[in-house]
Amino acid sequence: MNEHERIRELLPFYVTGKLSPGETARLQEHILNCPECQSELALWKGLDWVITSGSSSAHAPAAALDNALASIHEREHRPSLPQRLWQILLAQLPLVKKEIWTASFMILVLGFVVTLLLDKTAFLYALAPMVSAGGLALIYGSDHDPAHELVLSTPASQVQILLARTVLVFGYNLLILAVLSAGLAAYYSPEIVLPLVKDWLAPMTFLSTLSLSLSILIDSEKAVALAYSLWLGKYLMINPDYFGLFEPSGNLFLRFWKSPVSLYLISAVLFSVMLVSLKRVKPARTLQA
Ligand SMILES: [Zn+2]
Repeated sequence: MNEHERIRELLPFYVTGKLSPGETARLQEHILNCPECQSELALWKGLDWVITSGSSSAHAPAAALDNALASIHEREHRPSLPQRLWQILLAQLPLVKKEIWTASFMILVLGFVVTLLLDKTAFLYALAPMVSAGGLALIYGSDHDPAHELVLSTPASQVQILLARTVLVFGYNLLILAVLSAGLAAYYSPEIVLPLVKDWLAPMTFLSTLSLSLSILIDSEKAVALAYSLWLGKYLMINPDYFGLFEPSGNLFLRFWKSPVSLYLISAVLFSVMLVSLKRVKPARTLQA
């Protein structure tokens, strides 16, 4: 049972004044940010008159309360979890900058054509993480969202909004890449393309997370610049002519890019740090900026 459901169960006891001060405080805090509980509270306040009217010593039988709760749950037809997640995603879709969709699509398709022209399958997989990182640096923040002040005024949903946009933009890039990879696999052979896809997913995840997190912790331009430098640095170091310049740390750097475990682990840490810091962003700070 999550916090929301727990609080809902407590609502009838709240209106009849049967909660401890601690429970009351917790409930009031939750209700501030939960429209669903607010409307249900209004409903219970209506019922409160029925429950408490008459003798003050008379309590509504527990069964009556349970029945009332059960019938409310039944009537409401709360959407299932997948349905609710889908609604959250759809709601964020129009709020992501439109340029991200068109630019990502065009760059990736162009990259696909260049890949075929150069006859170098690796080209597309060098390009894709940069497209994804560039897009994710632009999904959140006052510079990119006309409704950002509104977003900040609903602190409870900031994390939800950010997660939804991340899934949309990252998923969109993955989808395009999946289609283009299928095209490459048909043109060359799956034996050539599949290992590339396998080696590419972890760096793409890392670069995207890095860019997204830094765009929120610092700013979008620096985030993209750093993500691109790290990624292009890798290609510079692979070149035997330059590799000597970066010894001995260069070797470690290249090993990092080849280790999915490290890449996913650091991505997870970065993402968590960013989510935690997100809750600390106050509207006033953004207004001053
Ligand atoms: Zn609630």
